[in-house]
Amino acid sequence: MAALRHLTILGSTGSVGINTLDVVARHPERFRIAALAARSRVDVLFDQCVRFRPDVAVMLEARAAEQLDHRLRSAGVECSVRCGTHALEQAAALPHVDTVMAAIVGIAGLRPTLAAAKAGKKVLLANKESLVTAGPVLMDAVREGGATLLPIDSEHNAIFQALPRAHQQGLESVGVRRVLLTASGGPFRMTPLRQLEHVTPDEACAHPTWVMGRKISVDSATMMNKGLEVIEAHWLFGAGADQIEVLIHPESVIHSLVEYVDGSVIAQLGNPDMRTPIAFALGFPERIDAGVEYLDLSRIGALHFERPDMKRFPCLKLAFAALRAGGSAAAVLNAANEVAVESFLDGRLSFSRIPALIESVLERTAPSAPRSLEDVLAADSEARLQAGRWLADARTGTRSVRKTRSA
Ligand code: NAD
Ligand code: MG
Repeated sequence: MAALRHLTILGSTGSVGINTLDVVARHPERFRIAALAARSRVDVLFDQCVRFRPDVAVMLEARAAEQLDHRLRSAGVECSVRCGTHALEQAAALPHVDTVMAAIVGIAGLRPTLAAAKAGKKVLLANKESLVTAGPVLMDAVREGGATLLPIDSEHNAIFQALPRAHQQGLESVGVRRVLLTASGGPFRMTPLRQLEHVTPDEACAHPTWVMGRKISVDSATMMNKGLEVIEAHWLFGAGADQIEVLIHPESVIHSLVEYVDGSVIAQLGNPDMRTPIAFALGFPERIDAGVEYLDLSRIGALHFERPDMKRFPCLKLAFAALRAGGSAAAVLNAANEVAVESFLDGRLSFSRIPALIESVLERTAPSAPRSLEDVLAADSEARLQAGRWLADARTGTRSVRKTRSA
């Protein structure tokens, strides 16, 4: 029988968090929830605590934590309720925890993910933004902490499955020529370009094949999600920008592919359901039931592929450029994108202006070479400041040419 694993889920109330608990609930003999953490959805975290009985529950916001604590006490559920960013890091590094699902969205997930890596946990990485912004810092923490990093992003999980275990020695050494990341193309793959000016947040979040949180849904519509995944693939697999290709595949059945020097291409397929990569990583190296519907290719009939159009998806081009530029460029790209997406979701920026904001922030922010968490956070803050100025200028109709010093 497999040993009981003790889990922390960071971002348990989100789309990946809820899918993780769904898989966990199918295997009570394998997994026990030690800690659950989220930002502010008290109702959802309360229900999860009642059902999974974690030792610790963390809410980022103090008021939300107070409400949760009160409700749990009234219900007679024993649980230590904590709040704040430090509590998130503590939950990720609890001594009796061996596995941490990193499923907070955005750079907010960086500190706790780093804490899990430093503490030598098995880190299931959904929070791609932490690897995009702090690639070298996080990879060093994984090595130094003796942690295991397993990708949850379906594309990277697919590549991980299609690679031999020895790939850590370098892709060339295992005969890999390229990795191919598939992308659905999002809801606006066929929308006439001039209509993109007027699309609404709800339209952008109506993804054709995946049900996800709002930030990643908008990223999928702009294809910045694929851009972030290109950078993520670079850090996870040591692939250079020229070894990564993006392929639009609207059915989202092939989750990604690895091409070998002998012409073989190995792909991983399955219905688009995040419980497959989650179950793969939870059970690794064993396979466990994920509760997903099995793939019926005869019902699907045909699979389609096309190259992404960089005019339609300039964010993808910006991400490749940031990967090639190296240093702080990816952290700046990510910060500008987080501000742009939030502004779009709040109705302050049109969808078609998202790439313009990001490009301008990349131009205005002097590059640096972050070596520590603090350096990464400095580059992030500087980029947010520039993004704020760009938005203010756009509102007043002026164009600033401010250049900044190195972050
Ligand atoms: P979501 O918006 O549904 O959930 C985000 C979770 O993070 C919530 O539990 C929220 O409470 C928590 N959170 C947000 N800000 C926080 C903060 N400052 N402090 C603490 N907790 C905070 O997002 P999601 O779709 O589940 O995505 C989570 C991560 O997984 C993202 O990085 C995303 O790119 C990645 N991912 C998601 C999917 C998917 O299918 N949803 C697929 C691949 C990768
Ligand atoms: Mg993905």
